[in-house]
Amino acid sequence: MKYDVIIVGAGPGGIYSAYELVKGNKDLKVAVIDMGNSLEKRKCPIDGKHIKTCIGCKPCSIMSGFGGAGAFSDGKYNITNDFGGTLCEYIGKEEAISLMEYVDHINMTHGGEGTKLYSTAGSDITRLCMINKLKLMNASVRHLGTDINFVVLENLYNEMKDKVEFRFLEPVQKIEIIDGGFKVITSKDSLECEKCIVSVGRSGSKWVEEVCKDLDIDTLSNRVDIGVRVELPARIFAHLTDTLYESKIVYRTEKFEDNVRTFCMNPYGIVVNENTNGIVTVNGHSFEDPAQRTENTNFALLVSKHFTEPFKDSNGYGEGIARLSNMLGGGVIVQRFGDLIRGRRSNHKRIEECFTRPTLQAEPGDLSLVLPKRILDGIIEMIYALDRIAPGTANDDTLLYGVEVKFYNMQVKVDNHLETKYKGLYMIGDGSGVTHSLSHASASGVFVARDILNN
Ligand SMILES: Cc1cc2nc3c(=O)[nH]c(=O)nc-3n(C[C@H](O)[C@H](O)[C@H](O)COP(=O)(O)OP(=O)(O)OC[C@H]3O[C@@H](n4cnc5c(N)ncnc54)[C@H](O)[C@@H]3O)c2cc1C
Repeated sequence: MKYDVIIVGAGPGGIYSAYELVKGNKDLKVAVIDMGNSLEKRKCPIDGKHIKTCIGCKPCSIMSGFGGAGAFSDGKYNITNDFGGTLCEYIGKEEAISLMEYVDHINMTHGGEGTKLYSTAGSDITRLCMINKLKLMNASVRHLGTDINFVVLENLYNEMKDKVEFRFLEPVQKIEIIDGGFKVITSKDSLECEKCIVSVGRSGSKWVEEVCKDLDIDTLSNRVDIGVRVELPARIFAHLTDTLYESKIVYRTEKFEDNVRTFCMNPYGIVVNENTNGIVTVNGHSFEDPAQRTENTNFALLVSKHFTEPFKDSNGYGEGIARLSNMLGGGVIVQRFGDLIRGRRSNHKRIEECFTRPTLQAEPGDLSLVLPKRILDGIIEMIYALDRIAPGTANDDTLLYGVEVKFYNMQVKVDNHLETKYKGLYMIGDGSGVTHSLSHASASGVFVARDILNN
Protein backbone atom coordinates (compact mmCIF):
# COMPACT_ATOMS: atom_id res chain seq x y z
CA MET A 1 0.00 0.00 0.00
CA LYS A 2 1.27 3.43 -0.85
CA TYR A 3 -0.40 5.05 2.14
CA ASP A 4 -1.30 3.73 5.56
CA VAL A 5 -4.16 6.19 5.82
CA ILE A 6 -5.85 8.48 3.30
CA ILE A 7 -8.12 11.15 4.72
CA VAL A 8 -10.63 12.66 2.32
CA GLY A 9 -11.44 16.22 3.41
CA ALA A 10 -9.30 18.77 5.25
CA GLY A 11 -12.04 20.15 7.50
CA PRO A 12 -11.89 19.80 11.29
CA GLY A 13 -12.70 16.07 11.09
CA GLY A 14 -9.81 15.44 8.69
CA ILE A 15 -7.36 17.82 10.36
CA TYR A 16 -7.70 16.45 13.89
CA SER A 17 -7.55 12.85 12.69
CA ALA A 18 -4.33 13.60 10.76
CA TYR A 19 -2.94 15.44 13.81
CA GLU A 20 -3.65 12.54 16.15
CA LEU A 21 -2.39 9.90 13.70
CA VAL A 22 1.04 11.44 13.19
CA LYS A 23 1.30 12.41 16.84
CA GLY A 24 0.65 8.77 17.78
CA ASN A 25 2.94 7.24 15.14
CA LYS A 26 5.33 9.45 13.22
CA ASP A 27 6.14 6.63 10.78
CA LEU A 28 2.62 6.44 9.40
CA LYS A 29 2.26 7.52 5.79
CA VAL A 30 -0.79 9.76 5.78
CA ALA A 31 -2.31 11.82 2.95
CA VAL A 32 -5.07 14.39 3.30
CA ILE A 33 -6.87 15.19 0.05
CA ASP A 34 -9.21 18.15 -0.38
CA MET A 35 -11.05 19.56 -3.36
CA GLY A 36 -10.48 23.08 -2.03
CA ASN A 37 -7.42 25.26 -1.65
CA SER A 38 -4.70 25.56 0.96
CA LEU A 39 -5.55 27.95 3.79
CA GLU A 40 -3.64 31.00 2.54
CA LYS A 41 -5.19 30.72 -0.94
CA ARG A 42 -8.78 30.53 0.28
CA LYS A 43 -10.44 33.82 -0.61
CA CYS A 44 -14.09 34.59 -1.22
CA PRO A 45 -14.28 37.19 -4.04
CA ILE A 46 -17.21 39.08 -2.47
CA ASP A 47 -15.75 42.49 -1.62
CA GLY A 48 -18.98 44.46 -1.25
CA LYS A 49 -17.93 46.79 -4.09
CA HIS A 50 -17.19 45.00 -7.36
CA ILE A 51 -18.63 41.64 -6.34
CA LYS A 52 -21.55 42.00 -3.98
CA THR A 53 -23.12 38.57 -3.95
CA CYS A 54 -22.07 34.99 -4.40
CA ILE A 55 -20.87 34.16 -7.93
CA GLY A 56 -20.75 30.43 -7.31
CA CYS A 57 -16.97 29.77 -7.43
CA LYS A 58 -15.94 26.16 -7.78
CA PRO A 59 -14.66 25.17 -5.32
CA CYS A 60 -16.27 27.63 -2.88
CA SER A 61 -13.54 29.16 -0.71
CA ILE A 62 -15.89 29.54 2.24
CA MET A 63 -16.80 25.85 2.40
CA SER A 64 -13.76 24.08 0.96
CA GLY A 65 -10.05 23.76 1.54
CA PHE A 66 -7.82 23.46 4.60
CA GLY A 67 -10.02 24.16 7.63
CA GLY A 68 -13.18 23.07 5.79
CA ALA A 69 -16.42 24.94 6.42
CA GLY A 70 -14.95 25.91 9.78
CA ALA A 71 -12.06 28.02 8.46
CA PHE A 72 -13.92 31.35 8.38
CA SER A 73 -16.42 30.34 10.99
CA ASP A 74 -16.86 32.00 14.29
CA GLY A 75 -14.80 29.24 15.89
CA LYS A 76 -17.31 28.43 18.60
CA TYR A 77 -16.38 25.07 20.02
CA ASN A 78 -19.36 23.90 22.09
CA ILE A 79 -18.36 21.23 24.58
CA THR A 80 -21.63 19.42 25.09
CA ASN A 81 -23.55 16.29 24.15
CA ASP A 82 -26.83 18.27 24.06
CA PHE A 83 -26.37 19.63 20.55
CA GLY A 84 -23.88 19.74 17.70
CA GLY A 85 -24.28 16.10 16.75
CA THR A 86 -25.00 12.64 18.03
CA LEU A 87 -21.42 11.46 18.48
CA CYS A 88 -22.14 10.33 22.05
CA GLU A 89 -24.71 7.83 20.76
CA TYR A 90 -21.87 6.00 19.01
CA ILE A 91 -18.93 6.39 21.38
CA GLY A 92 -20.55 7.16 24.74
CA LYS A 93 -21.13 10.44 26.57
CA GLU A 94 -17.96 10.53 28.67
CA GLU A 95 -15.68 9.65 25.77
CA ALA A 96 -17.33 12.29 23.58
CA ILE A 97 -16.88 15.04 26.18
CA SER A 98 -13.33 13.96 26.93
CA LEU A 99 -12.44 14.12 23.20
CA MET A 100 -14.03 17.58 22.85
CA GLU A 101 -11.95 18.73 25.83
CA TYR A 102 -8.86 17.23 24.22
CA VAL A 103 -9.58 19.17 21.00
CA ASP A 104 -9.94 22.30 23.12
CA HIS A 105 -6.51 21.55 24.61
CA ILE A 106 -5.02 21.23 21.10
CA ASN A 107 -6.56 24.56 20.15
CA MET A 108 -5.25 26.20 23.32
CA THR A 109 -1.72 25.02 22.58
CA HIS A 110 -1.83 26.14 18.95
CA GLY A 111 -2.71 29.81 19.22
CA GLY A 112 -6.03 29.76 21.09
CA GLU A 113 -4.55 30.43 24.53
CA GLY A 114 -6.18 33.40 26.22
CA THR A 115 -9.58 32.95 24.57
CA LYS A 116 -12.54 32.67 26.88
CA LEU A 117 -14.45 29.54 27.87
CA TYR A 118 -18.05 30.46 28.68
CA SER A 119 -20.44 28.19 30.57
CA THR A 120 -24.13 27.96 31.43
CA ALA A 121 -23.25 26.28 34.75
CA GLY A 122 -24.59 28.26 37.71
CA SER A 123 -25.97 31.06 35.54
CA ASP A 124 -29.18 32.92 36.53
CA ILE A 125 -30.19 32.96 32.89
CA THR A 126 -31.39 29.35 33.14
CA ARG A 127 -34.07 30.47 35.62
CA LEU A 128 -34.92 33.60 33.64
CA CYS A 129 -35.56 31.40 30.61
CA MET A 130 -37.57 28.85 32.61
CA ILE A 131 -40.05 31.38 33.99
CA ASN A 132 -40.58 32.66 30.46
CA LYS A 133 -41.32 29.25 28.92
CA LEU A 134 -37.89 29.01 27.34
CA LYS A 135 -35.27 26.33 27.86
CA LEU A 136 -31.56 27.13 28.01
CA MET A 137 -29.41 24.20 26.90
CA ASN A 138 -26.35 23.32 29.01
CA ALA A 139 -22.94 23.82 27.43
CA SER A 140 -19.47 25.21 27.75
CA VAL A 141 -18.39 27.16 24.74
CA ARG A 142 -14.90 28.19 23.73
CA HIS A 143 -15.12 31.18 21.46
CA LEU A 144 -12.00 31.41 19.30
CA GLY A 145 -13.46 33.99 16.94
CA THR A 146 -12.88 34.00 13.19
CA ASP A 147 -9.45 35.60 13.59
CA ILE A 148 -7.96 33.25 16.23
CA ASN A 149 -9.61 30.24 14.61
CA PHE A 150 -7.58 31.09 11.51
CA VAL A 151 -4.35 31.34 13.54
CA VAL A 152 -4.99 27.92 15.13
CA LEU A 153 -5.51 26.40 11.68
CA GLU A 154 -2.34 28.03 10.37
CA ASN A 155 -0.33 26.66 13.30
CA LEU A 156 -1.76 23.16 12.92
CA TYR A 157 -0.95 23.17 9.21
CA ASN A 158 2.62 24.37 9.78
CA GLU A 159 3.17 21.68 12.39
CA MET A 160 1.81 18.91 10.16
CA LYS A 161 2.96 19.90 6.68
CA ASP A 162 6.23 17.94 6.80
CA LYS A 163 4.64 14.86 8.36
CA VAL A 164 1.46 14.59 6.30
CA GLU A 165 1.07 14.82 2.52
CA PHE A 166 -1.55 17.49 1.82
CA ARG A 167 -3.08 17.49 -1.65
CA PHE A 168 -5.29 20.46 -2.49
CA LEU A 169 -7.57 21.23 -5.46
CA GLU A 170 -7.94 17.48 -5.97
CA PRO A 171 -11.54 16.28 -5.63
CA VAL A 172 -11.83 12.60 -4.81
CA GLN A 173 -14.13 10.99 -7.34
CA LYS A 174 -14.41 7.39 -6.28
CA ILE A 175 -13.45 4.92 -3.58
CA GLU A 176 -13.00 1.30 -4.55
CA ILE A 177 -12.55 -1.72 -2.32
CA ILE A 178 -9.36 -3.60 -3.15
CA ASP A 179 -7.45 -6.45 -1.54
CA GLY A 180 -6.30 -5.29 1.89
CA GLY A 181 -7.57 -1.77 1.57
CA PHE A 182 -8.96 0.91 -0.70
CA LYS A 183 -8.28 2.64 -3.99
CA VAL A 184 -8.95 6.36 -3.85
CA ILE A 185 -9.43 7.83 -7.31
CA THR A 186 -9.00 11.59 -7.53
CA SER A 187 -9.21 14.06 -10.41
CA LYS A 188 -5.42 13.68 -10.81
CA ASP A 189 -4.36 10.30 -9.49
CA SER A 190 -5.21 6.84 -8.28
CA LEU A 191 -3.93 6.09 -4.77
CA GLU A 192 -4.01 3.06 -2.54
CA CYS A 193 -4.32 2.91 1.22
CA GLU A 194 -4.95 0.47 4.02
CA LYS A 195 -7.39 2.70 5.93
CA CYS A 196 -9.55 5.47 4.59
CA ILE A 197 -11.24 8.22 6.59
CA VAL A 198 -13.99 10.08 4.74
CA SER A 199 -14.64 13.49 6.30
CA VAL A 200 -16.14 15.59 3.55
CA GLY A 201 -18.61 17.76 5.46
CA ARG A 202 -21.70 19.41 4.02
CA SER A 203 -20.04 20.32 0.74
CA GLY A 204 -19.37 16.62 0.13
CA SER A 205 -22.93 15.51 0.91
CA LYS A 206 -23.90 14.64 -2.65
CA TRP A 207 -20.62 12.83 -3.20
CA VAL A 208 -21.02 10.77 0.01
CA GLU A 209 -24.45 9.76 -1.23
CA GLU A 210 -22.84 8.44 -4.43
CA VAL A 211 -20.11 6.59 -2.49
CA CYS A 212 -22.71 4.93 -0.25
CA LYS A 213 -24.80 3.92 -3.26
CA ASP A 214 -21.73 2.59 -5.07
CA LEU A 215 -20.53 0.57 -2.09
CA ASP A 216 -23.98 -0.41 -0.91
CA ILE A 217 -23.64 1.28 2.48
CA ASP A 218 -26.98 1.93 4.20
CA THR A 219 -28.11 5.49 4.86
CA LEU A 220 -30.99 7.15 6.71
CA SER A 221 -32.62 10.47 5.89
CA ASN A 222 -31.82 13.31 8.28
CA ARG A 223 -33.64 16.47 9.31
CA VAL A 224 -33.35 19.96 7.87
CA ASP A 225 -33.51 23.18 9.93
CA ILE A 226 -35.21 26.16 8.33
CA GLY A 227 -35.54 29.71 9.59
CA VAL A 228 -34.10 33.19 9.60
CA ARG A 229 -31.10 35.04 10.98
CA VAL A 230 -32.04 37.77 13.43
CA GLU A 231 -29.90 40.90 13.73
CA LEU A 232 -30.39 43.49 16.45
CA PRO A 233 -28.38 46.00 18.48
CA ALA A 234 -25.88 44.06 20.60
CA ARG A 235 -27.02 45.85 23.77
CA ILE A 236 -30.38 44.07 23.66
CA PHE A 237 -28.70 40.69 24.15
CA ALA A 238 -25.63 41.88 26.08
CA HIS A 239 -26.79 40.48 29.45
CA LEU A 240 -26.96 37.02 27.83
CA THR A 241 -23.94 37.17 25.54
CA ASP A 242 -21.58 38.75 28.08
CA THR A 243 -22.19 35.82 30.42
CA LEU A 244 -22.75 32.90 28.06
CA TYR A 245 -21.44 34.21 24.72
CA GLU A 246 -23.80 31.85 22.91
CA SER A 247 -27.10 30.83 24.44
CA LYS A 248 -28.92 27.90 22.90
CA ILE A 249 -32.52 28.54 23.81
CA VAL A 250 -35.49 26.39 22.84
CA TYR A 251 -39.13 27.49 22.75
CA ARG A 252 -42.19 25.27 22.28
CA THR A 253 -44.76 27.23 20.27
CA GLU A 254 -48.29 27.53 21.63
CA LYS A 255 -49.92 27.26 18.25
CA PHE A 256 -48.36 24.06 16.87
CA GLU A 257 -46.19 22.84 19.76
CA ASP A 258 -43.20 23.02 17.41
CA ASN A 259 -39.73 23.63 18.82
CA VAL A 260 -38.00 26.80 17.67
CA ARG A 261 -34.40 27.27 18.77
CA THR A 262 -31.69 29.85 18.68
CA PHE A 263 -28.55 28.80 16.86
CA CYS A 264 -25.09 30.22 16.18
CA MET A 265 -25.18 33.43 18.19
CA ASN A 266 -22.63 36.05 17.18
CA PRO A 267 -22.30 38.94 19.62
CA TYR A 268 -20.97 42.10 17.95
CA GLY A 269 -20.73 40.05 14.76
CA ILE A 270 -21.64 40.18 11.10
CA VAL A 271 -24.18 38.40 8.95
CA VAL A 272 -22.71 36.61 5.93
CA ASN A 273 -23.81 34.72 2.83
CA GLU A 274 -23.28 30.99 2.69
CA ASN A 275 -23.22 28.99 -0.51
CA THR A 276 -24.08 25.30 -0.37
CA ASN A 277 -24.05 23.57 -3.73
CA GLY A 278 -24.99 26.82 -5.50
CA ILE A 279 -27.79 27.83 -3.11
CA VAL A 280 -27.22 31.06 -1.23
CA THR A 281 -28.35 31.08 2.38
CA VAL A 282 -27.38 33.17 5.37
CA ASN A 283 -25.03 32.61 8.30
CA GLY A 284 -23.05 34.75 10.72
CA HIS A 285 -19.80 35.12 12.58
CA SER A 286 -17.92 37.41 14.90
CA PHE A 287 -14.36 38.29 15.79
CA GLU A 288 -12.38 37.91 18.99
CA ASP A 289 -10.48 41.10 18.16
CA PRO A 290 -12.46 44.04 19.68
CA ALA A 291 -11.36 46.27 16.77
CA GLN A 292 -13.36 44.15 14.35
CA ARG A 293 -16.59 44.11 16.36
CA THR A 294 -19.82 45.64 15.09
CA GLU A 295 -22.67 47.20 17.07
CA ASN A 296 -24.97 44.25 16.36
CA THR A 297 -25.58 40.72 17.54
CA ASN A 298 -26.98 38.09 15.21
CA PHE A 299 -28.34 34.58 15.71
CA ALA A 300 -30.49 32.12 13.82
CA LEU A 301 -34.01 31.02 14.75
CA LEU A 302 -34.62 27.58 13.34
CA VAL A 303 -37.39 25.01 13.11
CA SER A 304 -36.51 21.37 12.35
CA LYS A 305 -38.33 19.34 9.72
CA HIS A 306 -37.72 15.66 9.13
CA PHE A 307 -39.54 13.89 6.30
CA THR A 308 -39.59 10.11 6.19
CA GLU A 309 -42.60 8.69 4.32
CA PRO A 310 -43.39 8.81 1.36
CA PHE A 311 -41.26 11.94 0.85
CA LYS A 312 -37.83 11.46 2.39
CA ASP A 313 -35.74 14.28 1.04
CA SER A 314 -35.65 16.75 3.97
CA ASN A 315 -32.68 18.57 2.42
CA GLY A 316 -34.52 18.84 -0.90
CA TYR A 317 -37.38 20.55 0.94
CA GLY A 318 -34.94 23.02 2.55
CA GLU A 319 -33.25 23.60 -0.81
CA GLY A 320 -36.62 24.35 -2.39
CA ILE A 321 -37.34 27.05 0.19
CA ALA A 322 -33.85 28.53 -0.15
CA ARG A 323 -34.19 28.54 -3.95
CA LEU A 324 -37.46 30.47 -3.61
CA SER A 325 -35.71 33.18 -1.58
CA ASN A 326 -32.87 33.23 -4.13
CA MET A 327 -35.45 33.57 -6.91
CA LEU A 328 -37.25 36.50 -5.25
CA GLY A 329 -34.22 38.29 -3.83
CA GLY A 330 -31.37 37.15 -6.11
CA GLY A 331 -29.80 35.82 -2.92
CA VAL A 332 -30.60 36.52 0.70
CA ILE A 333 -33.68 38.63 1.57
CA VAL A 334 -33.77 41.07 4.50
CA GLN A 335 -36.95 42.28 6.22
CA ARG A 336 -37.70 44.45 9.26
CA PHE A 337 -39.69 42.59 11.90
CA GLY A 338 -42.16 45.51 11.91
CA ASP A 339 -42.75 45.08 8.17
CA LEU A 340 -43.20 41.34 8.54
CA ILE A 341 -45.93 41.61 11.17
CA ARG A 342 -47.67 44.39 9.21
CA GLY A 343 -47.75 42.13 6.17
CA ARG A 344 -45.67 44.35 3.91
CA ARG A 345 -42.32 43.90 2.23
CA SER A 346 -39.31 45.89 3.33
CA ASN A 347 -37.86 48.21 0.72
CA HIS A 348 -34.55 50.07 0.44
CA LYS A 349 -35.99 53.22 2.02
CA ARG A 350 -37.29 51.42 5.11
CA ILE A 351 -34.03 49.52 5.54
CA GLU A 352 -32.05 52.77 5.18
CA GLU A 353 -34.21 54.43 7.84
CA CYS A 354 -33.94 51.43 10.14
CA PHE A 355 -32.30 52.00 13.55
CA THR A 356 -30.57 48.62 13.24
CA ARG A 357 -27.89 48.98 10.60
CA PRO A 358 -27.58 45.79 8.52
CA THR A 359 -24.14 44.19 8.37
CA LEU A 360 -24.98 42.20 5.22
CA GLN A 361 -26.10 43.80 1.99
CA ALA A 362 -29.20 41.77 1.17
CA GLU A 363 -32.26 42.51 -0.97
CA PRO A 364 -35.18 43.99 1.03
CA GLY A 365 -38.22 41.76 0.55
CA ASP A 366 -40.99 39.80 2.17
CA LEU A 367 -40.11 36.60 4.00
CA SER A 368 -43.76 35.60 4.30
CA LEU A 369 -43.64 34.82 0.56
CA VAL A 370 -40.80 32.40 1.16
CA LEU A 371 -41.24 30.62 4.47
CA PRO A 372 -44.12 28.19 5.06
CA LYS A 373 -46.76 29.66 7.41
CA ARG A 374 -46.16 27.13 10.16
CA ILE A 375 -42.44 27.91 10.30
CA LEU A 376 -42.98 31.66 10.10
CA ASP A 377 -45.65 31.61 12.83
CA GLY A 378 -43.25 29.70 15.08
CA ILE A 379 -40.46 32.22 14.46
CA ILE A 380 -42.74 35.18 15.21
CA GLU A 381 -43.92 33.52 18.46
CA MET A 382 -40.30 32.85 19.43
CA ILE A 383 -39.33 36.49 18.82
CA TYR A 384 -42.06 37.61 21.23
CA ALA A 385 -40.93 34.95 23.75
CA LEU A 386 -37.32 36.19 23.52
CA ASP A 387 -38.60 39.74 23.97
CA ARG A 388 -39.60 38.73 27.52
CA ILE A 389 -36.01 37.85 28.47
CA ALA A 390 -34.33 40.42 26.20
CA PRO A 391 -36.74 43.35 25.78
CA GLY A 392 -36.28 44.96 22.40
CA THR A 393 -36.00 41.69 20.47
CA ALA A 394 -39.47 42.27 19.01
CA ASN A 395 -38.77 45.88 18.02
CA ASP A 396 -39.92 46.92 14.56
CA ASP A 397 -36.31 47.51 13.51
CA THR A 398 -35.08 44.03 14.33
CA LEU A 399 -33.81 42.63 11.05
CA LEU A 400 -34.60 39.17 9.74
CA TYR A 401 -32.51 37.66 6.97
CA GLY A 402 -33.74 34.67 5.07
CA VAL A 403 -33.46 32.07 4.62
CA GLU A 404 -31.14 30.30 6.97
CA VAL A 405 -31.10 26.59 6.27
CA LYS A 406 -29.05 24.04 8.13
CA PHE A 407 -28.71 21.07 5.89
CA TYR A 408 -27.73 17.81 7.52
CA ASN A 409 -26.17 14.99 5.64
CA MET A 410 -28.04 11.76 5.56
CA GLN A 411 -26.86 9.46 8.30
CA VAL A 412 -24.40 6.91 7.05
CA LYS A 413 -24.62 3.55 8.75
CA VAL A 414 -21.49 3.26 10.87
CA ASP A 415 -20.77 1.19 13.97
CA ASN A 416 -19.48 2.38 17.32
CA HIS A 417 -15.99 2.74 15.81
CA LEU A 418 -17.51 5.09 13.18
CA GLU A 419 -16.52 2.38 10.70
CA THR A 420 -18.72 1.35 7.78
CA LYS A 421 -19.42 -2.27 6.96
CA TYR A 422 -15.99 -2.27 5.27
CA LYS A 423 -13.24 -2.68 7.88
CA GLY A 424 -10.93 0.29 7.64
CA LEU A 425 -13.39 2.62 5.87
CA TYR A 426 -14.46 5.29 8.36
CA MET A 427 -17.06 8.01 7.79
CA ILE A 428 -16.84 10.91 10.23
CA GLY A 429 -17.70 14.58 10.72
CA ASP A 430 -20.66 16.35 9.18
CA GLY A 431 -20.40 14.26 6.00
CA SER A 432 -21.42 11.16 7.93
CA GLY A 433 -24.51 12.83 9.41
CA VAL A 434 -23.18 11.96 12.88
CA THR A 435 -21.92 15.47 13.66
CA HIS A 436 -22.85 19.02 12.77
CA SER A 437 -20.42 21.20 14.66
CA LEU A 438 -16.74 22.00 14.95
CA SER A 439 -16.28 20.27 18.30
CA HIS A 440 -18.12 17.06 17.41
CA ALA A 441 -16.50 16.83 13.95
CA SER A 442 -13.03 17.37 15.42
CA ALA A 443 -13.66 14.88 18.23
CA SER A 444 -14.82 12.27 15.70
CA GLY A 445 -11.49 12.77 13.88
CA VAL A 446 -9.44 12.14 17.02
CA PHE A 447 -11.62 9.14 17.85
CA VAL A 448 -11.02 7.31 14.56
CA ALA A 449 -7.32 8.19 14.58
CA ARG A 450 -7.00 6.51 17.96
CA ASP A 451 -9.01 3.55 16.72
CA ILE A 452 -6.57 3.14 13.83
CA LEU A 453 -3.54 3.58 16.11
CA ASN A 454 -4.91 0.97 18.52
CA ASN A 455 -5.22 -1.49 15.67
C1 LIG B 1 -20.06 30.29 7.99
C2 LIG B 1 -20.07 29.10 8.93
C3 LIG B 1 -19.95 29.31 10.29
C4 LIG B 1 -19.95 28.22 11.18
N1 LIG B 1 -19.76 28.45 12.51
C5 LIG B 1 -19.66 27.42 13.36
C6 LIG B 1 -19.37 27.63 14.74
O1 LIG B 1 -19.12 28.73 15.19
N2 LIG B 1 -19.36 26.54 15.57
C7 LIG B 1 -19.60 25.28 15.12
O2 LIG B 1 -19.57 24.34 15.90
N3 LIG B 1 -19.83 25.05 13.79
C8 LIG B 1 -19.87 26.08 12.91
N4 LIG B 1 -20.10 25.84 11.59
C9 LIG B 1 -20.20 24.45 11.14
C10 LIG B 1 -18.80 23.82 11.10
O3 LIG B 1 -17.97 24.59 10.30
C11 LIG B 1 -18.91 22.38 10.61
O4 LIG B 1 -19.75 21.67 11.48
C12 LIG B 1 -17.54 21.69 10.56
O5 LIG B 1 -16.65 22.42 9.75
C13 LIG B 1 -17.66 20.26 10.03
O6 LIG B 1 -16.38 19.71 9.89
P1 LIG B 1 -16.10 18.53 8.85
O7 LIG B 1 -14.65 18.25 8.92
O8 LIG B 1 -17.04 17.43 9.12
O9 LIG B 1 -16.49 19.09 7.41
P2 LIG B 1 -16.07 20.41 6.64
O10 LIG B 1 -15.54 21.42 7.55
O11 LIG B 1 -17.21 20.77 5.78
O12 LIG B 1 -14.86 19.94 5.72
C14 LIG B 1 -15.04 19.04 4.68
C15 LIG B 1 -13.92 19.21 3.64
O13 LIG B 1 -14.06 18.14 2.69
C16 LIG B 1 -13.78 18.65 1.39
N5 LIG B 1 -14.45 17.80 0.40
C17 LIG B 1 -15.77 17.64 0.18
N6 LIG B 1 -15.99 16.73 -0.80
C18 LIG B 1 -14.76 16.34 -1.23
C19 LIG B 1 -14.31 15.43 -2.23
N7 LIG B 1 -15.15 14.71 -2.99
N8 LIG B 1 -12.99 15.30 -2.41
C20 LIG B 1 -12.09 16.00 -1.65
N9 LIG B 1 -12.46 16.88 -0.69
C21 LIG B 1 -13.79 17.02 -0.47
C22 LIG B 1 -14.30 20.07 1.42
O14 LIG B 1 -13.61 20.85 0.45
C23 LIG B 1 -14.01 20.51 2.86
O15 LIG B 1 -12.81 21.21 2.95
C24 LIG B 1 -20.10 26.90 10.67
C25 LIG B 1 -20.23 26.69 9.29
C26 LIG B 1 -20.21 27.77 8.42
C27 LIG B 1 -20.34 27.51 6.94
